Amino acid sequence: MKPVNVIEMTVPNATWRRMADKATREGLRAYRLNGDNRSWAVTSHSDDASAYEVTILDGDLLCSCRGSEFHRYCKHRALVLACLGLLAEDARHERYPLVPDRVIAALESA
Ligand SMILES: [Zn+2]
Repeated sequence: MKPVNVIEMTVPNATWRRMADKATREGLRAYRLNGDNRSWAVTSHSDDASAYEVTILDGDLLCSCRGSEFHRYCKHRALVLACLGLLAEDARHERYPLVPDRVIAALESA
């Protein structure tokens, strides 16, 4: 059986969506690095000369921001999920966790 990322699974989709909305309101931008859906740079709200690295690794969703040391989610990761089309309102998906399986499926179809 594949290891499951319990931490990410406990973040409700509504929370991810709320964080992505906040990121958009604050004008954060997400850039795909080298055209790879697994590597992103997301601009910082507090320091417009900085960006954070968001990485998707085997279904884990990682961010280099300081908040990620303490929280299971952040605006940067949420914005990447939105860019991948994973936060669209879709009743069929509401009951299912975002990662790892759905993220991997999105990467494969992107
Ligand atoms: Zn972050």
